[in-house]
Amino acid sequence: LRAASALSAWLPASLAEAVVRRLGDEGDAPLSAWPREQRRRLARALDDWKLPVEDSRGYGFAEVTAGGVPLTEIDPGTMESRLCPGLHLVGEILDVDGRLGGFNFQWSWSSGFVAARALAGDVRGAS
Ligand SMILES: Cc1cc2nc3c(=O)[nH]c(=O)nc-3n(C[C@H](O)[C@H](O)[C@H](O)COP(=O)(O)OP(=O)(O)OC[C@H]3O[C@@H](n4cnc5c(N)ncnc54)[C@H](O)[C@@H]3O)c2cc1C
Repeated sequence: LRAASALSAWLPASLAEAVVRRLGDEGDAPLSAWPREQRRRLARALDDWKLPVEDSRGYGFAEVTAGGVPLTEIDPGTMESRLCPGLHLVGEILDVDGRLGGFNFQWSWSSGFVAARALAGDVRGAS
């Protein structure tokens, strides 16, 4: 199996080709024919390869923003602002962001639930 094809079991094929080329191999030799040191270099390259972020696609493509209100300004039991009593803040307006995969939805729903429960308690307490 060509080295790049073998790697493409775990990586996108174009990335696998690029990694193999970066190590100075045209990608035609089978991985099993690579000398041990070259296989080690490949393993290190995969494990240590730093991919610095150079740019983003901008706000139009952003999926989560970590809105800007620090959690220290919030009572976590009620989601009420410590600076502005009576104001409850939930979801993305707070400085919380998760990896993609539902964590941001979950944060929105959970913090919304906590705030709603506190507000319902306020309403019941007032009546
Ligand atoms: C393209 C995209 C894909 C995403 N994919 C995922 C994902 O796969 N998994 C995940 O966990 N998260 C994902 N997110 C993030 C997730 O959608 C948000 O973190 C979450 O919806 C935030 O919920 P929220 O209630 O805080 O804010 P929002 O859902 O943004 O709700 C805010 C609401 O307030 C309204 N509003 C704004 N200004 C005013 C105003 N002045 N008066 C009245 N109403 C106002 C807005 O119209 C909006 O309805 C994605 C986001 C985007 C943009």
